[in-house]
Amino acid sequence: MPSTVEELEISGFLETSFVDWDGLISSVIYLPGCNLRCPFCHNHELIFSDKSPKDMKIKPQLVLNHLNDKKEWIDGLTVTGGEPTFHMGMLVPFLEHVKTIGLKVKLDTNGSNPAAIRKLIDLELVDYVAMDVKAQLSDDKYHAAVGVNLSVDKIKESITLIIGSGVDHEFRTTVVPTLVSASDIPLIAKDLIGCKLYVLQKFHNENAWKEPFNTMDSHTDDEMKAMGDSASKSVPVKLRLR
Ligand code: SF4
Repeated sequence: MPSTVEELEISGFLETSFVDWDGLISSVIYLPGCNLRCPFCHNHELIFSDKSPKDMKIKPQLVLNHLNDKKEWIDGLTVTGGEPTFHMGMLVPFLEHVKTIGLKVKLDTNGSNPAAIRKLIDLELVDYVAMDVKAQLSDDKYHAAVGVNLSVDKIKESITLIIGSGVDHEFRTTVVPTLVSASDIPLIAKDLIGCKLYVLQKFHNENAWKEPFNTMDSHTDDEMKAMGDSASKSVPVKLRLR
């Protein structure tokens, strides 16, 4: 095995998940580090890549061995984070091994690194891309949602390339009160015209990173359904309420 595979940092490993890839059974790896600082982040213990000591991390070979042993029972591997595209140098050879095992790969991404997404698609290392669209695609709203000055052009570039790639995908917005309003949703949906699926996820305050999001009430199911209806005029929509 090339040393770069062994160098892939894996902070968490879930052997079997029925919820991370709709309709499929997948294992899940969690990669540390993220370039964004979303104040409502539920994985905030992962976003600082230097937080866990090296000897606490999970060895990539153990994950590959598990995937090989269980390949008859699982459909694929979900790669999430943090932001997985932080790790391209090691992630590419790791996913090449996963593909030789014969498993599908789902990438969860915040969409801020279109070059990396394009590379993973071009190398045929991903079968499904789930990209967050954190807010309406204006600089001020996006900056409030992601906690850093990120160029919205990067997000737009990722949206365009994913839609044009032919790879199965979804875009998803967690409807965080004060950061995403009901009137933003149809505007986001219009920027996603041509996509295969737009998922509206209900916000839950458990384990949210910062105040006031860790005590904030969610939208009601009826409010979520109304937002779904407004988006469905432009794109196929699915609600995740739990
Ligand atoms: S992009 Fe995801 S992992 Fe990164 S800070 Fe935002 S919610 Fe957390």
